[in-house]
Amino acid sequence: MTPELGPALGALVAVWVALLGAVVGSFLNVVIARVPAGESIVYPGSRCPRCRTPIRWYDNLPIVSWLALRARCRACGARISARYPAVEALGAAAALVIYARHGLSGAAAVELAFVAALLALAFIDVDTWLLPNVLTWAVLAFGILVAPLGITPATTLRHALYGAGLGFAAFALLGWLGERLLKKEALGFGDVWLLAGLGAWFGPLPLLPVVLLASVQGSVVGLALLAMGKGEPGPAAPLPGPLPPPPPLLPGDGGEAPGEPTADAAPAAQEQEQEQAGAGAAPASEQDWVPPKHAVPFGPFLVAGALEWLWLAGLLARAFPVLRLFG
Ligand SMILES: [Zn+2]
Repeated sequence: MTPELGPALGALVAVWVALLGAVVGSFLNVVIARVPAGESIVYPGSRCPRCRTPIRWYDNLPIVSWLALRARCRACGARISARYPAVEALGAAAALVIYARHGLSGAAAVELAFVAALLALAFIDVDTWLLPNVLTWAVLAFGILVAPLGITPATTLRHALYGAGLGFAAFALLGWLGERLLKKEALGFGDVWLLAGLGAWFGPLPLLPVVLLASVQGSVVGLALLAMGKGEPGPAAPLPGPLPPPPPLLPGDGGEAPGEPTADAAPAAQEQEQEQAGAGAAPASEQDWVPPKHAVPFGPFLVAGALEWLWLAGLLARAFPVLRLFG
């Protein structure tokens, strides 16, 4: 990293980096709560979601304040979810990983921005089953804009454009095929834009391992939820068993982990594509659509796959040499 700094100064810089990451995480909490609701992320300042009391700066310090307040609002005593400090800790951890990879550099700042946007998208998808266009398009534009600097895995603008095009085309095609074959929406359009953004960041080849990692983990979690009884399958949904003929790379935002058929979601699911197309879509469907109870959204797994490939590609390629083809 930065061996020319003494160990004490090095530790100080690492602490500073972690604090910066926690502040980024704190901002992500705001983004996660407000972007899906269409609210400003700047104004007004943070308020208690129950009593609307503005939160003072000393009660709004990342992680520390949550611990000091023992997870309760100072004014009304409402419980504050442990997810707030968890997202702040994730931000700190991401900043430290990125600092270890790039030191204090432009490349580190660019990667932190990219990773932060992905983390926000993952949590928004968990909450709302939506990947807002304003964020996926920002990831896509950012990936293309910074590509000529040569500090992203795509390395060149040309690769970034190929990757974005391939991500969009391949996933849109899969979604269309899945819809024809399964007679219901297999893939949300938010996933398509997210994959285009990942393609702009990584270039075309790494998209395959990213989608593979996402699908495998999505299946494992989907099946685990079933096994834990959280996902009692609907009447028409047989238990996993052999996977249905369409390839298991089709789980969608509005869909489910592969191997977890959720026929009960079918009637509502068709509306989701419009909803996820965002601009110009019928706003009425937004209220009508109810996430399938037993499924998991795919966005968080795409984000996990992307971060794993970004940070652990070398390790993964050593374990599975075939992955070297995509590095
Ligand atoms: Zn309160």
